[in-house]
Amino acid sequence: MAEGIAFIDGEYVPASEAKISIFDVGFTRGDAVYDTVSVWKGLFFRLDDHVGRFFRSCAGMRLTCPHAPAELKQILAGCVHRAGLESAYVQMIVTRGRFLDLAERDPRRCQNKFIGFALPYIWIFSPRRQEAGVHVVIAGTRRTPAEAIDPRVKNFNWMDLERGLLEALDRGADTAVLCTPAGYLTEGPGFNLFVVKDRELLTPRRNVLEGITRRTVFDLAAELGVPGREVDLTPESLREADEALLSSTAGGIMPVSRVDGRPLGTGTPGPLSSRLRALYWEKREAGWLGTPVKDLLAT
Ligand code: PLP
Repeated sequence: MAEGIAFIDGEYVPASEAKISIFDVGFTRGDAVYDTVSVWKGLFFRLDDHVGRFFRSCAGMRLTCPHAPAELKQILAGCVHRAGLESAYVQMIVTRGRFLDLAERDPRRCQNKFIGFALPYIWIFSPRRQEAGVHVVIAGTRRTPAEAIDPRVKNFNWMDLERGLLEALDRGADTAVLCTPAGYLTEGPGFNLFVVKDRELLTPRRNVLEGITRRTVFDLAAELGVPGREVDLTPESLREADEALLSSTAGGIMPVSRVDGRPLGTGTPGPLSSRLRALYWEKREAGWLGTPVKDLLAT
């Protein structure tokens, strides 16, 4: 277990010691929402956007976060500070919690539970892998339809994403993109997807998490004068794209170099993807949309 600090049951503890009950409904039924925000060189990125989305996720699943936003931010900063981390992967979670009586079935009677933690920054794909480009497959496993679980609610129901990931690893790739039951591209385990076609950035419009990095890709593209749109994308549009990239808090903007075992374009990160990736890190280094951890600490 990496070093890090968690906040659980009202206390800061080493992350490796933070535990929940085997009867917590977040564990037994995947009934939990979360959000992940990053800290780079002492600055949270788009913290209010993440906290806003977290509270919308809670509302979407009728879960109650016991801490108001200002207090929540203070707790998260407390985790980062106590862990002594300059750059961190920070998570906030509300699980349904436990039934007081185990024979109970009414989720409204559970006491919702908040957990936060800060770990050293996590890359879903290492910088080295990003420089070579990520290998993706289009999974046979379908993404859970939005009519069943609203993907805009960031949640722990990851069985479809995990199945897709296992499929990708079995096929020798790094990760998978899943389609809707109707066959349109959505997203993958921990990231949104963009394709570049004729100097335009396109991203799936349905059945996806409204990623904060996805929004950031649009912002950076606008700065470069590149138009972006949300559309329905078929698997063919990815296989035949000029470029593709993945976006996530855990890794930033990550170029794709192979799809379904074949080189995408030249088989190396495309020029626009590489430019966006460089700009993302340049701007983060310069403190763009950052909130200093130290400004949030309880006095
Ligand atoms: N889609 C899914 C399913 C995710 O789990 C994530 C992040 O964990 C993303 C997209 C990317 O969202 P963000 O850019 O806010 O990290």
